[in-house]
Amino acid sequence: MQTIRGFRDILPEQIWLWQKVEKEATSLFEAFGFKEIRIPILEKTQLFARSIGEVTDIVEKEMYTFEDRKGDKLTLRPEATASIVRSYIQHKMYASDPVRKFFMIGPMFRRERPQKGRYRQFYQIDAEVFGIESAYIDSQLIFLLNELFKRLGLTELSAHINSLGCPECRPSFQKALLTFIESKKDRLCENCLRRIDKNPLRILDCKIVDCKEALKEAPATLDHLCGDCTEHFDTVKTTLNQQGVDFTVDKSLVRGLDYYTRTAWEIQTTTLGAQSAVAGGGRYDGLVKELGGPQTPGIGFAIGFDRLVEVMEQIDKPLEDVPLDLFIISLGDTAMEKGYHWSCQLNQAGIRTEMDFRGKSMKALMKRADKLNAQSVLIAGENELKENAIILRNMKTKEQVSLTVETLVPELIKILKK
Ligand code: ATP
Ligand code: MG
Repeated sequence: MQTIRGFRDILPEQIWLWQKVEKEATSLFEAFGFKEIRIPILEKTQLFARSIGEVTDIVEKEMYTFEDRKGDKLTLRPEATASIVRSYIQHKMYASDPVRKFFMIGPMFRRERPQKGRYRQFYQIDAEVFGIESAYIDSQLIFLLNELFKRLGLTELSAHINSLGCPECRPSFQKALLTFIESKKDRLCENCLRRIDKNPLRILDCKIVDCKEALKEAPATLDHLCGDCTEHFDTVKTTLNQQGVDFTVDKSLVRGLDYYTRTAWEIQTTTLGAQSAVAGGGRYDGLVKELGGPQTPGIGFAIGFDRLVEVMEQIDKPLEDVPLDLFIISLGDTAMEKGYHWSCQLNQAGIRTEMDFRGKSMKALMKRADKLNAQSVLIAGENELKENAIILRNMKTKEQVSLTVETLVPELIKILKK
């Protein structure tokens, strides 16, 4: 049996980088006042169709959707924002305190063509903020991302930012876009043509090279911003500059989901080939209302955890295995039973202790202690028990001490606990 295409195991020898990132991210989120939220992996299909948008790549072709035994249409979550917005509304969080900051870490599912940096089950580190309209929070989220990447030692990253405008500036932009697209119709793919009526903005997101070429001179949202959106974007840029966060304004950045308004951004790397985006984010001031809540501004980002780890693998050296504090060598049935109880007590005391229950010979057990990189071994054979002199040997210095059964565990704790 093998994993499904696009799904993979993350093995114990690879896990250290994942844990390192989780630790840094969690402590940074806490410092910025974020609270962890855990949301279901399965949701009603409608939640994603309505929030991400019917005419988007994710909803049209990437979602894992199926009917359960009762015929309800369900989907494995392709992203976290929709579910967190659903949770915010479902639990009426806005009533007691509209300002909420959440983070979550977990798997997402999209049925895309698997390749390096692109999987069908992948992981995201996600952050969402509700109830704050001010551009300071846009700036702060990009600052947070920048700080996290800096702490992880990543330097080959750049932030690309854009403003997508608001319902106020959309009509003027859409008009200009449609006029432009009309003039390029003969050069666009079938998918783009189909989207002209349904969702013209999505055409700017087409990954096909010929379409990209044809759309090079397409109008940009940035050139159609209303006064408020311009001011908002100016504040984001000014405050990022003041904090020393590097960024480039990228007029062509549109992001693949429908709910974005105003600031949108991507963190890109030059070291992963085609899969260059390690994180993406944006503001979604209309989404809470769209999904049935009160008008509430929102903004968030998602880091592609798998890609982040792939970038780190290029620069980070794996940590060596933490050595074992003690390996207990018990020879014979009585010693085995005693050794078992000692090991339990030592484990409780936080001493990294192991023993082998397979009844192996002294020679085989010494070999195993070596393999596990045990700093000390405890030798308890029939003789040692009879003479009440259990031997503790330091494997580095080869020094030995003899311990009595009655005080063995507290003595060991005293010696081994640094
Ligand atoms: P891309 O353009 O690479 O498909 P996206 O815009 O679809 O990315 P988002 O929905 O913004 O991605 O998700 C945020 C981040 O999640 C991305 O920047 C990327 O790092 C990561 N990501 C998205 N899809 C995958 C995937 N199939 N496998 C691994 N990581 C992914
Ligand atoms: Mg995608």
